[in-house]
Amino acid sequence: MACRCGPPGTGGSCRRITQFVLKVHSRCDLSCDHCYVYQHADQTWRGRPREMAPEVVRAAAGRIAEHAAAHGLPVVHVVLHGGEPLLLGVARMRELLTDLRAALDPLVTLDLRMQTNGVLLDPAFCDLFVEFGVKVGVSLDGDRAANDRHRRFANGASSHHLVRRALALLRRPGYRSSYAGILCTVDVRNDPDAVYPALLAERPPRIDLLLPHATWDSPPPRPGGAATPYGDWLGRIYRRWVDDGRPVPIRLFDALLPGGTVGGTEAVGTAPADLVVIETDGTWEQADSLKVAYHGAAGTGLDVFGHSVDEAAGHPGIVARQGGVGTLCATCRACPVVDRCGGGLYAHRHRAGTGFDNPSVYCADLRKLIDTVDAYPARRHGSRSARPDADGAPSAELLAELATGHGGSEALRLLAATQLSITRALLAAWRDAAGRTDAWDLLADLDARAPGAVRAVLRHPFVRPWLVRHLDPSARGGPAGGGDLVPALAAAAAVRARVETEVAVPVRAGAIMLPTLGRLSLPVSAGETAVLRTSRDGFRVRVGTLDRAVSLDPAVPPPAGWRPTHVVPVGGPEVVIEDADPERDCYGQPVAPRLDEPAAGSWGRTLARAWRVVHRDVPAHGAALDAGLRAVVPLASDPASPLRSATARHAFGAVAVTGVPDPETVAVLLVHEWQHAKLGALLDLHDLVDPAPSTRIPVAWRPDPRPPEGVLQGAYAHLAVTEVWRSRADADGPGAPAAREHAERYLAWTRDAIDALLASGALTDPGERFVGRMRQALEEPHVVRG
Ligand code: SF4
Ligand code: SF4
Repeated sequence: MACRCGPPGTGGSCRRITQFVLKVHSRCDLSCDHCYVYQHADQTWRGRPREMAPEVVRAAAGRIAEHAAAHGLPVVHVVLHGGEPLLLGVARMRELLTDLRAALDPLVTLDLRMQTNGVLLDPAFCDLFVEFGVKVGVSLDGDRAANDRHRRFANGASSHHLVRRALALLRRPGYRSSYAGILCTVDVRNDPDAVYPALLAERPPRIDLLLPHATWDSPPPRPGGAATPYGDWLGRIYRRWVDDGRPVPIRLFDALLPGGTVGGTEAVGTAPADLVVIETDGTWEQADSLKVAYHGAAGTGLDVFGHSVDEAAGHPGIVARQGGVGTLCATCRACPVVDRCGGGLYAHRHRAGTGFDNPSVYCADLRKLIDTVDAYPARRHGSRSARPDADGAPSAELLAELATGHGGSEALRLLAATQLSITRALLAAWRDAAGRTDAWDLLADLDARAPGAVRAVLRHPFVRPWLVRHLDPSARGGPAGGGDLVPALAAAAAVRARVETEVAVPVRAGAIMLPTLGRLSLPVSAGETAVLRTSRDGFRVRVGTLDRAVSLDPAVPPPAGWRPTHVVPVGGPEVVIEDADPERDCYGQPVAPRLDEPAAGSWGRTLARAWRVVHRDVPAHGAALDAGLRAVVPLASDPASPLRSATARHAFGAVAVTGVPDPETVAVLLVHEWQHAKLGALLDLHDLVDPAPSTRIPVAWRPDPRPPEGVLQGAYAHLAVTEVWRSRADADGPGAPAAREHAERYLAWTRDAIDALLASGALTDPGERFVGRMRQALEEPHVVRG
C-alpha cells in the first residue's frame, strides 16, 4: 500500500519514518569520556532497564511493521544500539533478531544494522550476524594514540587491540558480508595523517567521521584558540581522500561534494528527520545526539505500548526538523551553502535561551570544510590516474589498475618510468663511488642532446642488475670487474643518437657489449681497451691491430664478430631475444649460451606466435606486454625440468623462458612472468606486504609454506593465468575441456591464496586494497575473446 500522506518535508502531514534505533542494552563495557550517552547533560539512562525485554522488542517490531504497512514502506532500517548491544549476549541477541525478522520480514525489507564498540565481538556473534543479515559498524577513532585518548575501559585500559581484533574478524571472508564500516569521532588533537591511514587500514566498506557533540553552551575544544580546527582537520583528510582516489565512501564528504550523495547523514544537509529511537524500556525518543543539549532533550513522553510510530513522529521536536531550510535560523537561511550544510546537526545548534534557532556551533568549521571541498574538487583528480603522489607512492588509481591483473598502458608507462628513475639513481651512486670519467661526461652530454637515445639504453633490462651487483660492497670488483658499463652505455647511446664522438670501451670476455645493439667479439688479450668511434652511419672499433666497422645500414654486410641483437617482429614494440649480454645471468638458474642463427630464428618465430596468442586469449594482457616487455632471455635446457620460466626483480622489461616450441605454452609463460615483473616494479614503489619475516602461508602450488610476498607474487601471476585458461575454455575447440580444468585449478589456487593473504594480517593498507581488488577481479565476469 502506498503512503497517502504526501511526501515528508513538504509541510504536509506525512509522518513516515524509515530508521529506527533500538537501544537493546543501556550500559556499556567501555567508559569513553566523549560518550554522549553517559558523559553529557542527559542522564536518563540511569533510570532505564539494562536490557530491552522481549515484550518491548515485540511491541517495537509490531509498531514498525504497522508503520511500514500504513506508509507502504519498501524498506525499514533498524539499528541495534546501546550502550553496548553486544552486552546482550549471543543467546538473547538471537531471540531479539528472531523476533524482529518474524515481525518484519513478511511485510517489508528489513535492513538490520548494529553499532558496537567491538570489544565483545567474537565468531559466535559474527556467525549470528551473518545468519540474520546484520551489518555491523564498529567505533574506532583512528590509530592507537587517537583511540586511547577517549575509548578506554573504566580502569583506564586501552580497548584498541580488542577493537582491531573485532575488525580483523569482520574482514574474514566468511564474515565480510556483515562488515558495515567504521565510526570515528573526531578529536583535533589527533593527527589526521595518522588517523586516516589507520582507518583505511581496516578496509572498512564505509567510514563515518563524527564531530564531537557540542552546543553553544558547551562548545567543542578549540586548541590554541584556532578559528576552524575541525574544518581544517577534516579538510586535511578530505584532500588525502581525494588524492587517494576516494578509496572508501566517507559519508560526510560524499554528502558535501557538489551533486554528492543527498541524505544518509544527519550531520549535514536539509533532508527531513527520518529517525526515531526506542529505549530499552520502550519509550520513543528523538535522535541520541540531542542528549548533549540538556537533560531529557531527546524525550517524547511516548512509548511503543501506547503510541504508534506516527504519534512519535508527530512530536514537535521531530516535526520541527521536517521543514527543510524554512525551519532553520535566519543566519542559516541566508547562508550561501545552506543547501549543503543544512545548519549542521540539529543538536549542535542548541543554545540556552534560543533553543535550536541558531547556526551550528561548528558553523565556521562546516563553512571551511565546504570551501575546501569546492577548492579541491574530487573530479579534477580523475586525471591523476597512474601518477605517483608527491611522496613517490603510487596513486590509488595505479594500484587499482594493476590489481585488475593486467594494467593499462598508462600504468605500464609509469612502472617503466619509475624503473628508469631507479636505474638513474643507481647510476649516480656508481658515479659517486667510481668517480667521473670521460665516458660518464659523454653519457651526461648525450642525455642533454639526445635524451631519447640515452633513455633507450638505460631501459635495457640488464643495466640495473649490473649496477646492483657492482654497488654491493661484497661484490665490487667481482669476476666481471667494473667500470665497463658506463663506456658501453655511452657508446650505445652515441650510436643510437648518430653523433660523431669517441669513447674507450674495455673489452670484457673477448667482446664489447653495446646494450640494445649487439655484441662485437674481439679476439684480444684480457684487459685491452677498444676505441669506439661513432658517426652518422655506424661505428668503428679499433684495438691493437684489429679494426672493425659496423654500419647501421642493414644492407651492408656486418664485419667478423659483430652479432646484432635479435629483434623479434611481434607486430608493434621492439622486442629482442637477449642471448649475449653477460648480465642476463641474473635469474638464479642457468641461461642458455648464445644461440646460433637457426636457433635464434626459431626462437623468434615461436615468440612472435606466442605474442599473438596472448593478444588472442587475453587482449588486455597483450597490451600490457606491448607496453613494457622488451626482452626474452633463453634459459638453458634441462631434460629434468623442460618447462621453466623466471623473472629477476632488478631486470624490469625482461623475462626468461626455456626453449619450448609450442607458442600456446610460451604464451602462458610470458603472461605469468610479466605479472611477476609488473608486481616487482610496483613493490619498488610501495610496500604491499608488512616486513614480517616469520609469517609463512601454505599455498596449493608448492609443498612449502611461503612468505607473504611470495604468496602475493604467486597469486598475482595465477590471476592472469586463470584468465588465459578461462579464455581458452570459452573457445570452442578440442582443447576446451582441458583448459576448463586448468582454469578451475588456477582459480582455486588464486582465490585461496588471496583469501589467505587477506586473513593473514601481513598486508599493509595499500596491500590490503590491492589484494582486495585482485579478489574482485577474480570474481568479475571475464572477457570472452572475440
Ligand atoms: S563505547 Fe559507545 S556507548 Fe560505550 S562508552 Fe564508548 S561511546 Fe559510550
Ligand atoms: S551552520 Fe553556518 S555554514 Fe551551516 S548553513 Fe548555517 S550559517 Fe551556513
